[in-house]
Parts: sequence; C-alpha cells; structure tokens
Amino acid sequence: MATIRENVERVRREIREAAGRSGRDWTAIKMVAVTKTVAAERIVEAIETGLTVLGENRVQEAQEKIPRLSSYRDIRWHLIGHLQTNKAQKAVQLFHMIQSVDGLKIAEKIGRHAAESGQVMPVLVEVNLGKEQTKHGVPEEELMDMVRQASGLRNIKIKGLMALPPYCPNPEDARPFFKRLRELAHAIRHMEIPDVEMTELSMGMSHDFTVAIEEGATMVRIGTAIFGERT
Ligand SMILES: *Cc1c(COP(=O)(O)O)cnc(C)c1O
Repeated sequence: MATIRENVERVRREIREAAGRSGRDWTAIKMVAVTKTVAAERIVEAIETGLTVLGENRVQEAQEKIPRLSSYRDIRWHLIGHLQTNKAQKAVQLFHMIQSVDGLKIAEKIGRHAAESGQVMPVLVEVNLGKEQTKHGVPEEELMDMVRQASGLRNIKIKGLMALPPYCPNPEDARPFFKRLRELAHAIRHMEIPDVEMTELSMGMSHDFTVAIEEGATMVRIGTAIFGERT
C-alpha cells in the first residue's frame, strides 16, 4: 500500500499535469486535504509532506481534532460540510474558511459570531448544481440574489463558489457541472458587487479533480486519494 507521502506526491503531480494541459499555473491551485474520519496521527503524516490546508465536514469532529493539532500553526482549517445554525459560533472559532455557506440565514449567523470576536470570516457559497434533494447548496436560480444580499454582511467575505456535483462514475461526466460553476462565478464577477471577490472555485474530489482543474478549480478537496478509503 502506498504511504500518505507517496499519495500526496502523486496528487501533486496530477495537479501539475492537469494545470499544464489547460495552460494554468499549478501553484495557484490549492490542495485541501480532507481529513474527516482520519485520526490525528495520520493527519500529522500529511502535514509533514507540506500540506497546509485541511478540510473537515463536521464541526463536532473538528472540535476534537483541531485543538490536538494546534501546534501546527500554519495549518488553515476549512469547513466543507453543511453547517447548522446552532454550531455556527463553534465553527467561527475553529475554522479559517467556511466553504459550505448554503443560504442567507447561515451567512448571517456566521457574520454575527464573527463580529463578536472582531473577525471577518472568508466564505464560499455552496451551489447545488444538480438540483439534488439530498444535497445542500443554494439552487442556481437563487444564487445571484443570495450573493447580493450576503455581500452586505460586514463580517463575512465572499471569496468564491463551492460545489459537490452529482456523483459521476466517469469523471468526464462531471465536466459540465464544473464548467457551470465557473460560468456562474464569472457572471457574478460581472455584477461587480462591492466586497464580493469571486476568485475561488472549490470543486473536484479524489476521482475527478483533474477534470475540475481543467475547468478552472482553484481548490480541490482530496480525501481518499491521500488517506485511502474511509471506514
Ligand atoms: C469527503 C468530502 C470530500 C473528499 O472526498 P474524496 O472522494 O474522499 O476525495 C470533498 N468534499 C466534500 C464536501 C466532502 O465531504
């Protein structure tokens, strides 16, 4: 079995190659190592390969893990899973970015708690591209209004979009979804909403990140390809 270091190196190589194919600068693409269900000792192995951005999808799990890894001061923790309003305060304390803002109400909650501690929380707006009932995210047709309204919140800073497209066994089939997310970000940039940056596109996971990079991903969220299958 490959080691975590070998896995990270393979993913890095594939990121460089995918960036090269699409004429992009690979250094502008961030690998978010998804550490959900992974024990702290194995996360340390990943950190020691030089990874600095880690993603967790549940506040409760992160609450146990993040303090145990607090000696690694350069690590940036990203929340990538649905956030309930009653966990927003904890999330603001734990995370450096919240990628999974899926409505105005949670954006307001995050903003309120960030204000209490004098912070501005960078966030991504999660879009439900496949209109899937089982998934979180702002439906496409509500996205523009939601971003416009959330842009007025002083203690959050909208940096871009995130999506988790429907699972496609063949990663090529996910391409239209990635392309769509890029187009939506482009359209929002053109609206020139004050305080909205729209420079980040978080899309692509272990099985389809190379396609996502070809379509403009600036962050790829990789779990299985680094740590192996989750049990
Ligand atoms: C688990 C998870 C990932 C990583 O998935 P892998 O297929 O293991 O790479 C990415 N994004 C989100 C939102 C996740 O929950």
